[in-house]
Amino acid sequence: MLKIKNLHASVDGKEILKGINLDIKAGEIHAIMGPNGSGKSTLASVISGKEEYEMTEGEIILHDEEISEMEADERAHKGVFLSFQYPVEIPGVSVTNFMKTAINESRKARGLEDMPAKDMLKLIREKSELLEIDRKFLSRSLNEGFSGGEKKRNEIFQMAMLEPKLAILDETDSGLDIDALKIVANGVNKLRSKDNAVIVITHYQRLLDYIVPDYVHVLLNGKIVKSGTKELAYELEEKGYDWIKKEAVH
Ligand code: ADP
Ligand code: MG
Ligand code: MG
Repeated sequence: MLKIKNLHASVDGKEILKGINLDIKAGEIHAIMGPNGSGKSTLASVISGKEEYEMTEGEIILHDEEISEMEADERAHKGVFLSFQYPVEIPGVSVTNFMKTAINESRKARGLEDMPAKDMLKLIREKSELLEIDRKFLSRSLNEGFSGGEKKRNEIFQMAMLEPKLAILDETDSGLDIDALKIVANGVNKLRSKDNAVIVITHYQRLLDYIVPDYVHVLLNGKIVKSGTKELAYELEEKGYDWIKKEAVH
């Protein structure tokens, strides 16, 4: 599904990613962990095509297609979803209306007509039932007065509606409480299928108690210095990152 080869990227002329290799197959969940400042969010941004980040070397191949020259919205239409894309509050625009717009914009970009209202309602009903989102929530103003958990619920709902091939969840908010973690985990587990893949970026091993990754990668100073299975996450929880830093030096 996604192959990243020797990816280098810079921000403001400073090299942040220094040769990342990653191979993600459909149906897999990969966790990326690492200390603050190691480049996790930069990696998410570069894959999704945010323009402040300059890719200086390497390849990003999604389904046999090189996507690194594509704009962010084109990548989104190819099925790349990055969480926190729309963290804005939009008073007066309900969650439902926002989702309708997001779906129709995405269709328009692919040369398709608006989704018929009946199908849209069916899709909203289906996905909100799957994620146990209640009707009251759907009619609330987007992000206005949302708790941490509600923001997550909205984000996961958006992901469910767009049915991405590759979802990247960057759990940057260290204030996430256990309920919010569970909402994210529950959503990811319900939405995972043999046709999609998920990258979960987190520094909480705790999240990985609920989302069981197939692989865990440790990012350190812009490089993946260690990969393993979920046991690696437990080892990190127990021992921190220092031993990996030492190993990486050798
Ligand atoms: P992480 O998500 O692992 O904490 P980041 O990818 O956010 O790490 O940051 C890696 C490094 O890149 C840090 O030194 C950070 O200051 C720098 N960086 C990230 N984004 C930007 C940006 N938009 N402008 C300037 N520096 C940035
Ligand atoms: Mg950070
Ligand atoms: Mg980050």
